[in-house]
Amino acid sequence: MDWFALACSVMILIFFFLPVRASDDRLIRGKPLSPGATIISDGGDFALGFISPSRSTPANLHLGIWYNGISEHTVVWVANRESPVTNNTMAAPTLSLTNTSNLVLSDGSGGGRVYWTTDVVTAPSSSSFDFAVAVLLSTGNLIIRSSNGTTLWQSFDHPTDTFLPGMKMRIRYRTRAGEHLVSWKGPGDPSPGNFTYGCDPVTFLQIFIWDRARPVYRSPPWTGFLVKNEYKFQMSNTSAIIIYMAVVSNDEESYTTFSLSDGAWRTRYVLTYSGKLQIQSWNTSSSAWAVLAQLPAWACNQYGYCGPYGYCDETEMPVPACKCLDGFEPVDMENWRDGKFSEGCRRKEALRGCGDGFLALTGMKPPDRFVLMVAHTSLEKCAAYCSRNCSCVAYAYANLGSSTSKGHTPRCLVWAGKLVDTGKLPASLAADTLYLRLAGVDIASGKRAKRNIVGIVLLALGSVVILVCILTALLKIKGKYRNPEIHKKATSDGSSDLEFPLVTFQEISLATNNFSETCMIGQGGFGKVYKGTLGGQKIAVKRLSKDSQQGAKEFKNEVLLIAKLQHRNLVRLLGCYGEGDEKLLIYEYLPNNSLDATLFDVSRKHLLDWEKRFNIIKGVARGLLYLHQDSRLTIIHRDLKAGNVLLDTEMRPKIADFGMARIFGDNQENANTQRVVGTYGYMAPEYAMEGVFSTKSDIYSFGVLLLEVVTGIKRSSNTRTMGFPSLIAYSWNMWKEGKLEDLADSSIMDTCSIDEFSLCVHVALLCIQENPDDRPLMPSIVLALENGTTTLPAPHCPSYLGLRNIDMEQIRYDIQNSTNTLTLTEIEGR
Ligand code: ATP
Repeated sequence: MDWFALACSVMILIFFFLPVRASDDRLIRGKPLSPGATIISDGGDFALGFISPSRSTPANLHLGIWYNGISEHTVVWVANRESPVTNNTMAAPTLSLTNTSNLVLSDGSGGGRVYWTTDVVTAPSSSSFDFAVAVLLSTGNLIIRSSNGTTLWQSFDHPTDTFLPGMKMRIRYRTRAGEHLVSWKGPGDPSPGNFTYGCDPVTFLQIFIWDRARPVYRSPPWTGFLVKNEYKFQMSNTSAIIIYMAVVSNDEESYTTFSLSDGAWRTRYVLTYSGKLQIQSWNTSSSAWAVLAQLPAWACNQYGYCGPYGYCDETEMPVPACKCLDGFEPVDMENWRDGKFSEGCRRKEALRGCGDGFLALTGMKPPDRFVLMVAHTSLEKCAAYCSRNCSCVAYAYANLGSSTSKGHTPRCLVWAGKLVDTGKLPASLAADTLYLRLAGVDIASGKRAKRNIVGIVLLALGSVVILVCILTALLKIKGKYRNPEIHKKATSDGSSDLEFPLVTFQEISLATNNFSETCMIGQGGFGKVYKGTLGGQKIAVKRLSKDSQQGAKEFKNEVLLIAKLQHRNLVRLLGCYGEGDEKLLIYEYLPNNSLDATLFDVSRKHLLDWEKRFNIIKGVARGLLYLHQDSRLTIIHRDLKAGNVLLDTEMRPKIADFGMARIFGDNQENANTQRVVGTYGYMAPEYAMEGVFSTKSDIYSFGVLLLEVVTGIKRSSNTRTMGFPSLIAYSWNMWKEGKLEDLADSSIMDTCSIDEFSLCVHVALLCIQENPDDRPLMPSIVLALENGTTTLPAPHCPSYLGLRNIDMEQIRYDIQNSTNTLTLTEIEGR
């Protein structure tokens, strides 16, 4: 640092630590505040003025409030976080009160550029007897008070990174808006950083710290109790700080606030720039801030630290530890012992479905990603709902009204996907009882079935028999078929052995009449599909075209992937063959072809009445839930569309075509690809434009598919969308105008339930939101569709405006000229 910069820094430091001049506690019209001057609250605890935390030259100024009279300059509120004013002597910044009762921060008195302003709406006053004033209260709250004494605006309604006594962290029910703390970017940079602390905007039941969109800490869901409303921190033998908490609810909002014991007024909550929520208190004897408590407190209670089905046992002292939920064991014992918990745990015994009962785990912090079911108003109803809903794996019930005067407020939480971010809480915290569906738990008593000696013997015998069967089958396969190329490849990739037989080329050739044209039932991007019969079973054979390089990769992908999957809403792969150029995939045959073949065919669409369509929607949703969460892997399909949903004899759906699918690790949320594959119109904007795919991009495609199923209109049609540029635009406008009936496919009019129809459109519009964070996850979607009601939020305008403006010629040009290859399986004119 040269001497000039050093001198400037010293000057800036002097500027900050100059004793603050005793001054008035208010700003009035015509007397602006300039850099160097301060407003001091009554009693002298807080100061308002210009600050320059970055200590840059020339000084970047922010308007701020800080604790007055302590040696460490500690800012509690900043007005212009993102737009600092440069301290320019030609046009020095000022804070002034206008004749509309607004505070305005500008450079040059009044006439210059405005950097920040309040948003009070009042008629301009020309009267010199207008007494609106801005006052810095002794609490640190800057308010604008009208001449009749009402508060027109207050800084406490616009918190930055600090929560002070008397502030309210609130949620307004109507707008679902709530206060957040947003960290500074760094120690000298008050602009908004990556971390946010606030209430879950969907359920209002829990509090999060987010790192951008990723949760890093989650409080236990609200149980209706403040176990303690006093928190005492013993500072020395003679002094203690007590924080008094209160939660207040009325018809419009709920809020938390706190006050302090006498003498403890310099105590605050602050969200640090490194993402910790701390309770800090000024220690006069050491002249430093003491951290009384912080969140996350342990490694273990960071969000999702113990992996799926793991939990952080906070009763374990001195350091909380990760454990597996009852009935689960670590996925990888070695990693678990090494303290690598991210893979989490797996069931020791697979569920048998709806036949299994629930084990009650007391003292728990229930997992995240629950769905709040408001209709189930008692523990019994909540339990009954979860028992009869086979995809429900856990539930927890509380009566939120029991600790308040508001009477009965039921809170039934249910889970349908992986259980993440679970905890066991110390007895001092308000905990839930989590009812967990487990194999071997008696459905009536909720107790684990005890196996007697005879049972154990039988089980052991049974295992031997099963083992013998597997060995025999393996020997049979090895002896009979000599084309295990795919099999070898699969295992050399480290994937587990395939669990279906490999077949000979001759057998398939025979089954499909030598791949005759008469047996051909379809053609996809990678080859032709033939119908055949093998061993008495009807099969569909996908023969990959010989010259397709891409096909070989997708073939391997599909084999490795689908071989591991089993779900009634996914097409079963029965076998495969691969040698040289010849690659065949053998599937169960689905007689009713793909969904698009019936849905968009005027002579066939009547076959899909409302009940069938609703079942198709629910089936596809269950299949996707299985792919995203319920299989052992997280699988992103990447090409979900009506053409990839096949229908069985009863018109039940099965998702097909896994050639594009990708597997994610447990903690992976999204990935970026150089090769964008999929189908235009079903692609989420972030995937189409930036190649970012995640479960949320599949959910976008599901939303588009859902609209197609209920309207019977192709996503790309512009002849049936009443002048709107796309199905999405049309659907959004009809939803907005409350004209849902206009949207329904005419062939379902007679059979359609308007409630279910409206629920489907609601879910679809949420799925196609521009921002992936605004799209729900599959567990909420499945539960909403199966329950018939939704607590999902109202949708905003979905993502269609961007797509409308895409120039297809430009896209084609980009495909040909870019290293980012975009593989569209279908490009349709609009
Ligand atoms: P793309 O591969 O370009 O996405 P696609 O999904 O239509 O297109 P394929 O999965 O190869 O391509 O299927 C082509 C057609 O073959 C399907 O549309 C369907 O009509 C038929 N088909 C595929 N699998 C089966 C099956 N298991 N049973 C019955 N018909 C099938």
